[in-house]
Formats: sequence, C-alpha cells, structure tokens
Amino acid sequence: MAEYRADVAVIGAGIVGLSTAMELIERGRSVAVLDPGKERLRASYGNAGVLSRGSIFPVAGPGVLAKLPRYVLGRDIAVRVRLASFPAFASWLPRFLRSANEEAWRRAAAALNPLVAASYDRHIALAARIGAGDLIKRNGYLRLYRDPQGAAAAKLERTILTKHGVKVEEVDAVGIAELEPHLSSRFASGLLFTDTGSVESPGTLVEAYIRHLRGRGATFIPALVERIGPGEDQTIIQAGADIVRARDVVISAGAASARLIRPLGYRIPLAAERGYHLHLRPRGNAMLNRPVFDAAGGYVMSPMQGMVRVLSGVELARPDDPPDERQIRAVVADARRSMPLEDAAGEEIWMGSRPSTPDGLPVIGRPRGSTRLFFAFGHGHIGFANGPVTGLIVAQMLTGESPAVPVAPFSPSRFGA
Ligand SMILES: Cc1cc2nc3c(=O)[nH]c(=O)nc-3n(C[C@H](O)[C@H](O)[C@H](O)COP(=O)(O)OP(=O)(O)OC[C@H]3O[C@@H](n4cnc5c(N)ncnc54)[C@H](O)[C@@H]3O)c2cc1C
Repeated sequence: MAEYRADVAVIGAGIVGLSTAMELIERGRSVAVLDPGKERLRASYGNAGVLSRGSIFPVAGPGVLAKLPRYVLGRDIAVRVRLASFPAFASWLPRFLRSANEEAWRRAAAALNPLVAASYDRHIALAARIGAGDLIKRNGYLRLYRDPQGAAAAKLERTILTKHGVKVEEVDAVGIAELEPHLSSRFASGLLFTDTGSVESPGTLVEAYIRHLRGRGATFIPALVERIGPGEDQTIIQAGADIVRARDVVISAGAASARLIRPLGYRIPLAAERGYHLHLRPRGNAMLNRPVFDAAGGYVMSPMQGMVRVLSGVELARPDDPPDERQIRAVVADARRSMPLEDAAGEEIWMGSRPSTPDGLPVIGRPRGSTRLFFAFGHGHIGFANGPVTGLIVAQMLTGESPAVPVAPFSPSRFGA
C-alpha cells in the first residue's frame, strides 16, 4: 500500500480531468490523478473529435418527443433504447422529457453558448502548450441531409445559432460535391459550420497530456477509486491498495461520476448515452476533408489518420451492459453507401459512454455543504470539445480566480446537490 498527498486529487483522466490537472499545475498546485489508465475506457478516446461551435443545443429539444416511439420501438438507427435497463435511467427520463420543449432548449443554448464559444481556443491553447497543436484543425463540420429541403427545415435552430454568432452556410448537392468529392450523391442538402474544428486523433492528444503531466510532476495512480471519505483537514481517497490525501477533490470520472458520489449523499441524474465506433479504410484515394454527420442515420464519419472513424448515435443502456454491436453494424452498412469504405485489418469495435444530464448542461461546481469536493462531469455529446475550457474554469474556481465563463447554469444545485 502506498500513500500520497496532493493539493488536489483529480478522479478520472479523460479530457475534463486532464485539462483540469494541466491548469492546476500551471497555477502551482500539486496534483494526483486517479484513473485505471486504460485508454479504451475513456469517452475522450473514442469520440468523433469534433470541436463543434454549433453544438449549443441539448438532445432534449422540441422535436424529440415526436420521435420517441420510433426510438423505443427500435425503428430508428440513430437512437436505441435497451428497455431491460430502464431502471438505470428511470429517474433521468422524466427530467429529460420535461426539458424537451422550445423554451428550455433556448435557455440551454444561451447557457452553453459562452462555454462552447471558448472551446476551440482553449483546445488550441492547451495543445500548443505541449507542442501538439498540429493535431487540431479548423476544417469545419458538415451536416448532411438526403432531402433537398432538409437544411432549410432546420429553421428554428439556425435562427438561434445566428443570434449566438455561430456561422452556418447552407449548401446544395453541388456544394457538397465540391466540399467532399468522395461522398456518394445520396446527399441533397447540407449545413456547413465553418468555425468548427476537429482533432485528428483524440486518444493521441489525451496520451500527450498524460505524458506532459507526468513530466510536470503530477502523480498518476492507476486504479479505480472505491471510496471518498472525510479526513481531519483533508479528504481521503482509496483506490485499490493506495490512499491519497488531498485538500480538494475533483470528480471528473465521466459517466461513472454519479455512481462515485452517491455514497456521499449526492444524487445527480446522469445517463450513459452509449456510442460505438469502428475504423474503416477508404478505398483508393477517397477521403473526407472534415467530419460529416448524416442527419438521417444520426451518425458521424470522421477522418482520422488515414482512416474513417464511423460512430453510431445513441444507445440508452446501463454503462456496464454488455456491448450490442447491432447498431454500429447497421450504421457501418449505411456508411458504406455514403462513401467507398473497406474493412481495416485489426480494427475492433469500440464502445463508450457520453455522460449525459437530462437538461443537456454539464455539472460544474461545488456541491452543497462541501468545501472540498468539486464536480466536473456531464458534458454529454460535447465533452471532448468543452473539456479544456471546463478544466480552465475548475482551476480558476479552485484557486480563487473568477471563472472565464458564467457557471451558474451548470451548478449541481439544480439537481438539489
Ligand atoms: C460515440 C461518441 C462520439 C462522441 N463525439 C464527440 C465529439 O465529436 N465532440 C465532442 O466534443 N464530444 C464527443 N463525444 C462526447 C465526449 O467524448 C465526452 O463528453 C467526453 O469525452 C467526456 O470526457 P470526460 O473526461 O468527462 O470522461 P471520459 O473521457 O469518459 O473519462 C473519464 C475517466 O474516468 C475514469 N473513471 C471512471 N470511474 C472511475 C473511478 N471510480 N476511479 C477512477 N477513475 C474512474 C474512466 O476510466 C475514464 O478514464 C462523443 C462521445 C461518444 C461516446
């Protein structure tokens, strides 16, 4: 058994925890990071790498109720619901449904906008600090519709985006062919988000942050945290055979965060919106110039280091349910109709969980009654983009600076925590 001391213990080494650790070290704090250290356990490894300026909308939106029966009946490739696991998201679902209206959607977009607006610059700033800026590109993001009217139909969303200063251009089939010459002709209209960027290999960036942090003196404890308990003047964290004593504890364990804090009396509704990916090899000289989203299929194809990462939409299940590959298999079959893609030797299906709150806003702040714990999780579909700006906010708040972005809407108190 080993015992460690640090100013701050960060639980979870995904993009949120690592960005937090980077910012704290920069501010002269000693940091211990607790995480099993397996890259495929991180959503921050397997995501689509999109740093989306336009993603200011929660999943719970005005259109979602009408689609619910299709989702529940398994008739939509974009969303699958594992009904046998319903108890795991039973308390999350009613709150999600209550948020699924235009007023809440607009409110959430206004709250998320300052965070999302800062996300690209924070990524670049953090990556540049370790010489990894070339993994990030500002190459835009293309949402594709098979219907010529599809792009024009997203009227309300575009009005709100324009209000918040997000640049979106409508493109027709000719425009799509110019932007992405290797896509098939099945797409008739699209929306190009010009000020969106992407990361060519999210896992590579995450590993680079871990190496950098080790070099800057952060302690990494490769174990799952089992217990967080109060000490005399410090919090005591037990992970495997090791113990860490720290002044502050940041909970940034992604989709596992809610389970971790429940024994401390905090109940935050957090669902695992699971997703899958598979890497495919583009045939001949085919490639994508940027990540693209097929609105009908609800899936993303993202260019990653010479391959195309095909990512499924949502599977609502327990985080620890066994993988069900049917959704990603159906998505991959569909993606092959969008561009020429071949199996790549040695590639395995990956599964991970988006840590999702019912209102679509992250949980960032101290919980009620604690001067030691700090929550930083629940970023859902946009956590990879917003990890670095969240890390900045957390470090600022822990060191007495004012946060760069208004954080009141993200407070754990909205869930009574
Ligand atoms: C298919 C898919 C596509 C996505 N695409 C995008 C995208 O294009 N853009 C975007 O911005 N976001 C995207 N996301 C969402 C994004 O990946 C997540 O929101 C983000 O990575 C969450 O980061 P995190 O640091 O909170 O959690 P994670 O990256 O999941 O890290 C949490 C860490 O905590 C560790 N942990 C868990 N329990 C414990 C414990 N008890 N003790 C110690 N450690 C523990 C885990 O092992 C893990 O390493 C996508 C997600 C999925 C699934």
